[in-house]
Amino acid sequence: MKEKMFSDIKHNYETIVRNISDAAVASGRRPEDITFLAATKTVDPEFINYAISLGLKFIGENKVQELLSKYEAYDLDNAQLHFIGHLQSNKVRQIVGKVSMIESVDSLKLAQEISRQSIKQDITTDILIEVNVGREENKSGVMPENLEELLCQIALLPNISVQGLMAIPPICENEQKIRGYFQNMRNMFLDISAKKIDNIKMGTLSMGMSGDYREAILEGSNLVRIGSSLFGARNYN
Ligand SMILES: *Cc1c(COP(=O)(O)O)cnc(C)c1O
Repeated sequence: MKEKMFSDIKHNYETIVRNISDAAVASGRRPEDITFLAATKTVDPEFINYAISLGLKFIGENKVQELLSKYEAYDLDNAQLHFIGHLQSNKVRQIVGKVSMIESVDSLKLAQEISRQSIKQDITTDILIEVNVGREENKSGVMPENLEELLCQIALLPNISVQGLMAIPPICENEQKIRGYFQNMRNMFLDISAKKIDNIKMGTLSMGMSGDYREAILEGSNLVRIGSSLFGARNYN
């Protein structure tokens, strides 16, 4: 069973790398301009580290408890760890200093806590701002119309550095519709870049998952977060 899992991961990894390269070139960029991050929820560190041995450089967890329980086992000499899930302010302390980026910041309160905990550790924490691009109720992410104000507030905080934007668009059947969400994100990314807000970098646009990462790259993404296409469908039992 395990041997099959390793050979599936290898095959999937090579396929994804090829697809990313093709989409990068088709969008007028170089393959190395796109970051491939593996979303590793529910995946045993043994398999995560195997993917790292194949060349994977970024991994992402979406739950604090799971990240902490697997933290000692990750091969972080050879890969960087991002936090990509919904984060409560009271858990920030547990991951600051352990992750190289928090991709899912969507409120001033959360950013203030990341700033505070980073000051304590004398480090700067890189973050992305998560945008609720589909304007879905009960979903994480700042509403698009509030993005600029939030950025201007976070820009004033010490020991936290905005590096770009992240989004998880609504699940849609229709490729045109999903592309529309990606285009909206790219437009926000370019608008904010053009405004040159002090202390705000717009270098990373994190969007695209297993089902839509090629489309996301074609629409300007430079960080894709891929889980099931690499490790297989998840079993949450
Ligand atoms: C699980 C997860 C992904 C990857 O989803 P797949 O469809 O399995 O590729 C991407 N981003 C976040 C925030 C996730 O939690």
